Amino acid sequence: MEARVKKGLRLGIDLGGTMVKLALVNEKGRCLAVKEVATVKAPARLAGLLMGAAKEWLSSHRIVGTGVGVAGDVDSARGIVRFAPNLKWKNVPIKQFLRRAGIPAPVHVENDATAAAWGVFHTGLKKKSRNLVVLTLGTGVGGGLVFDGKLYRGATGSAGEIGHMVLDPSGPVCPCGNRGCFEATLGGVALARRGKAASPYELYLRARKGNRAALAVWKEAGRALGQGLANLINVLNPDTIALVGGVAGAAPLLLKFARPALAKAFQTPRRAARIVVPAQNKHTGVIGAALLVE
Ligand SMILES: [Zn+2]
Repeated sequence: MEARVKKGLRLGIDLGGTMVKLALVNEKGRCLAVKEVATVKAPARLAGLLMGAAKEWLSSHRIVGTGVGVAGDVDSARGIVRFAPNLKWKNVPIKQFLRRAGIPAPVHVENDATAAAWGVFHTGLKKKSRNLVVLTLGTGVGGGLVFDGKLYRGATGSAGEIGHMVLDPSGPVCPCGNRGCFEATLGGVALARRGKAASPYELYLRARKGNRAALAVWKEAGRALGQGLANLINVLNPDTIALVGGVAGAAPLLLKFARPALAKAFQTPRRAARIVVPAQNKHTGVIGAALLVE
């Protein structure tokens, strides 16, 4: 079954801890307009604020629905955010709040990384991939899975937390509380801290200049990436693995160090898995959310 998207304009919302991005998106995943507003944590006020921001678009276009990506654990079927640490939300019925404020139905709520993976799939990989793993390498590490052309959510909508796959139980502490998660080695915050740099980009520039300490941090991160990807390849047998997000800019360096661990994945699935770094589209989060309106 090909993932079919209903024709018409839809509203996409990417709800983060500090900023909310809104976009008017067509069925092909093209953004016609984008807006950003600062996040307000009180759900009713937030819903009102978003409605205010989208009002002009809604009055001049017919909208077929709204897709929302939220950084947190989401009950997609009921439109409830079970837990969003950045927003300090627990069991917030965000769909209901948005509907009450007048945001166009149907409203579909999804985890933000899952929505972003859907956006990555639709903006360039749809014709080339059926079984896709998306790794978002940013401040943290997130992920999303597309199997047989369809988004994979798992039993409770929690699937795709690739950043919290444990690679070394005695490794560094992760923001989630566990040790040795992917994110604890490969997340932007972890990289900068370990390299004593202001940002992963600064650490990247240092490594490019041959700074040994900086190279050692990237080497360790690359090894973790290789080991993680080898696991994903053996378990999921994807045709494509897409690395996106700011830290994916360092992919050539990371993949060089990832190679030995990657080579240990089983041969057939390893050969089948293309690792790609798609041209950065900074709107994949809102696009993916919007395209979840089916
Ligand atoms: Zn973790």
